[in-house]
Amino acid sequence: MSLTLFSLSGKRALVTGSSRGIGFGIAEALASAGASIILNARDPVALGAAAETLAARGVDVKALAFDVTHEESVNEAIEHATREIGPINILVNNAGMQHRAPLEDFPLDKFNQVMATNVTSAFLVSKAVVKSMIERRSGRIINICSVMSDLARPSIAPYAASKAAIANLTRGMAVDWAKYGLNINGIAPGYIRTELNEALLKNAEFNTWVEKRTPMGRWGEPDELGGAAVFLASAASTFVNGHILYVDGAFTATV
Ligand code: NAP
Repeated sequence: MSLTLFSLSGKRALVTGSSRGIGFGIAEALASAGASIILNARDPVALGAAAETLAARGVDVKALAFDVTHEESVNEAIEHATREIGPINILVNNAGMQHRAPLEDFPLDKFNQVMATNVTSAFLVSKAVVKSMIERRSGRIINICSVMSDLARPSIAPYAASKAAIANLTRGMAVDWAKYGLNINGIAPGYIRTELNEALLKNAEFNTWVEKRTPMGRWGEPDELGGAAVFLASAASTFVNGHILYVDGAFTATV
């Protein structure tokens, strides 16, 4: 098999929520396979710093600050990017958030924010990007799911519900858009060392639980999602569609 199958040369990728963590790791990997990158997050300072890091490595990178939960901002940003930068060939719906609280006390506004950030965002950004993909009969969408797409853990039921929803939204996108030549897949990470898990990483008891519960005996690193993203964005996966790829150190393979 030739490595050209994995080349993303000439492709442009928008990765939402990519100023840090998994999104930045995926952006780095797509860039190393040859893609031009559009980074996104809300905080323009952190976003600018992330873009500078990639630019210093010679990556063709642009920063596009917008809130993925706000329909008007999403539509304006995508319209601006398409006009000023060029067509988006690869969309990674990665932006996400966590809020932990006992379910019986979980505030409604936090429930709604988790759903908006983790699910509605993928619907909004995909809708804004997909029409030009359909016109070109070509495009890749990768939705970041979770091991919590299938499982639950105390205090994060709304997050688990949102991740189950994005997994099935992924299948629905494939069912609706595969006929236009688009491939839509998901990546489901296990426990990855990022800011989202800051509170858990500081908790010695939780660390021990993750290490025991994960057959590989450790947390994953953000750059360990990159290979799966390059595969799903490239010609190496032309007949892979509506699939959720688990990158979890065998977390979901064991009881
Ligand atoms: P993270 O380190 O907290 O990074 C989240 C990123 O999303 C940041 O760049 C943040 O920047 C951006 N973001 C948040 N809300 C946004 C909004 N409304 N609009 C635009 N950007 C927004 O999180 P992470 O751990 O890398 O998680 C990335 C994705 O992987 C999430 O979907 C998460 O659910 C999923 N995931 C994570 C793990 C894990 O163990 N870490 C496991 C499974 C799945 P701003 O705050 O500046 O907007």
